Amino acid sequence: MPEKTEEKKEGKSEQNELFDFNALLDKHLYRESKPKTVGRYYPSEVGSCLRKTWFSFKFPIEFDAEKRRIFETGNILHEYVVHVFKSGKTPEVELLKSEMPFVMNCGDFVVSGRVDDVLLVKTSGKTILVEVKSAARMPRGPSKHHAAQLQFYMHATGVHNGALLYIEKNTLNSIVYSVAYDERAAQDGIQRFAVLHKALLEDAAPEPEAKTHADMRWWCDYCEYAERCSATKTGAASGVACGAPETTKCPPASSQTEVKEEKKEETAEAKKPATSAWSSPKPKQTKLGF
Ligand code: SF4
Repeated sequence: MPEKTEEKKEGKSEQNELFDFNALLDKHLYRESKPKTVGRYYPSEVGSCLRKTWFSFKFPIEFDAEKRRIFETGNILHEYVVHVFKSGKTPEVELLKSEMPFVMNCGDFVVSGRVDDVLLVKTSGKTILVEVKSAARMPRGPSKHHAAQLQFYMHATGVHNGALLYIEKNTLNSIVYSVAYDERAAQDGIQRFAVLHKALLEDAAPEPEAKTHADMRWWCDYCEYAERCSATKTGAASGVACGAPETTKCPPASSQTEVKEEKKEETAEAKKPATSAWSSPKPKQTKLGF
């Protein structure tokens, strides 16, 4: 028996001597992070804890190898969905765009960049913005944070039909939820950028958002700034309390973007007031032709 264990060990070490794919992958995925500029924000930052984003400007750190691999898994699944739609075997869904660059000018700040996890498709005569989300396990329902993020994207692109497509990583099972556009919920997203911008200009940390919302608290377990966050008081960087800024209005950005989709009529449902900073109409599970 001990001999067998020895053999196994030897076999294992021989494999590792050939090459270490973990190391190769980490080298492949490594990108030097670019310094961030106050006043220029990425669209995807709307969905993160505000304080975490604030830290990423003030105290930039490189993502570790594990996080890069997780992001890459999301990219691979996104590409896979694109591949399925481009295969010619899904005529019921036409892929219009697989990348969504946009620029939205909001007065003294700009939200710009490529939205990586969003696709534009046409199905059942409707043009739909689809946000692709990979998940370790199929969610029981749509995340309100994902829905709120999609509201912002819908506003920014002027495409007012949205859907969340969740794909389970190890089975490729999927589920689609439709999200009705709600201008007020979209404005909440813009307001988040306005709060972030003001907090950065005033050098005052925003509230620890994820810690103070029960459904976001798990984000803190994966936050690279957790220690710093515990040692930081709200508004503590300069002693200035970071209050909410004046309401910021950004025009729906279809005229500012490359997306020139026709505006769809807003339904009465879409005009209902949102009830919280991250609220949005409850998404429905739907077939949407796919
Ligand atoms: S620890 Fe939590 S509340 Fe603090 S910055 Fe990170 S995610 Fe936000």
